[in-house]
Amino acid sequence: MLLSVMGGRVRFVRSSWLRACRRGLGARGSYDLGSSHGHQDHQEAAGIVFEDTASALFGMEGLRVTDVQAGPGGVLEVWAVTDYPAAAACPECGTVSGRVHETVLARPRDVRRAGDVVDLRWVKVRRKCGNGECPRKTFTERIPQLPPRCRITARLREQAGAEVAGRGITPAEAARHAGVSWPVAHDAFTAAADPLLEQPAAVVAHLGIDEHRRGRARFAADPQTGEYIVLADRWHTCFFDLSGQQGLLGQVQGRTADDAAYWLAGATPAWRDAVQVVCIDLCSIYAAAVRRMLPHATLTADLFHVVQLAVKATGDVRRRVVRARYGRRGRAGDPEYGIKGLLVRNLEHLSPDQFAKIIDTLDRDRYGQEIAAAWIAKEKLRDALNLRARVTGSTPGERDVRGRLFSFYDWCAQHDDIPELLTLARTISRWEDQIVAAVITGVTNATSESLNRLAKLEARQAYGFRNPLNQRRRVRIACTRGYRRRSRSATPKRTHPVTGRKPDPG
Ligand SMILES: [Zn+2]
Repeated sequence: MLLSVMGGRVRFVRSSWLRACRRGLGARGSYDLGSSHGHQDHQEAAGIVFEDTASALFGMEGLRVTDVQAGPGGVLEVWAVTDYPAAAACPECGTVSGRVHETVLARPRDVRRAGDVVDLRWVKVRRKCGNGECPRKTFTERIPQLPPRCRITARLREQAGAEVAGRGITPAEAARHAGVSWPVAHDAFTAAADPLLEQPAAVVAHLGIDEHRRGRARFAADPQTGEYIVLADRWHTCFFDLSGQQGLLGQVQGRTADDAAYWLAGATPAWRDAVQVVCIDLCSIYAAAVRRMLPHATLTADLFHVVQLAVKATGDVRRRVVRARYGRRGRAGDPEYGIKGLLVRNLEHLSPDQFAKIIDTLDRDRYGQEIAAAWIAKEKLRDALNLRARVTGSTPGERDVRGRLFSFYDWCAQHDDIPELLTLARTISRWEDQIVAAVITGVTNATSESLNRLAKLEARQAYGFRNPLNQRRRVRIACTRGYRRRSRSATPKRTHPVTGRKPDPG
């Protein structure tokens, strides 16, 4: 096609180009553009534009491979010429030109082939525009993968971007492998990631809000006022999809109620109306933001953090009592020290021997009994939380949960000489409605915490982030990767028949 359009000969003037011509293009050291290709018709019918096996293997639309040589150090030298009809058309006026101005050798960077670095040598033609009125005198050939002045093929960029977005490697690592610079790899990643992240989030029934420490804060002095302004906050507020598979929905810099409300205000009213339950840690700041922006939603407190508070109170009592008894901090050999690991365990996970050890140790004197009171308070609180459907198998009634919480308050009131228990009871009563809602709905922030782990991993791989915007993009891609993977492979699993019988060794 291109061949008949040009209808002439291109002479290669340099020896290296001559070699290319000799090998692939013609016997007399010139590129015979008039030669025809036997399979062209049926290849075109099948939608194949390549002329030969080597070109098909190389797989770049618009290039015909003329020679391939394995060089030293695993470098594959690939010589190619243009085989693309539109390349002969002037970009200014569209006139198809058959006049050659000069030939140039381009050496764009390309993807590796079977692990080998490819040294692509594209012999391309600069043509004269045939249209006398066209302001453009000459132009070089262009193909979809390599626009003019482009020194990296589009597929290499795409590969580098997809590796960072899909495989979770850093742009630096992708750049090293592709043989490009960090900014190129990062731009490729941005081009791959932003369209994914800009898609509006689907409706979320259960929303999780959590904070995430992103790194060190950075400040700069305002040149006018001289006051310090925050360039990068130490904290991010993250929003998670707890009921679906969307992972991290978004992040916002800072962790004040205004920061959280700002992100929620950016969502559509329909999206906000669809949120039924919001789960937060015991954090009154986020509670305020949720009450302001999602007044209809049920607010729940993450139960892990509730139990954590009770466990911490037990430990605080133990440490205070040990200091009062021995006049020093606890150490190995103290009976109280020997059960400190058992005290933080769930009661139902203790073996009879372990339970007996706790009772023996704490039953000796008034010091031990003080620790026992705190331990029992913890278990009384857990009794209320254990009414959730995940443990019992049936949805609890609000009255039952409040009844068990009352039993916990009652126990704390009986031991009002233990200050830690009073503090714990006060905190629990302040969050009682949210705790009861959490027990009834069974919504926890566990997904948020697991995604926070991914976010930390991402920051470690990058050796920390200087730019919070880049960090948000990378973390969000990392925390939605599973969702994309699942939605791609949303086919039912194949089932295998299982007989349930062991194979007969005889
Ligand atoms: Zn032109």
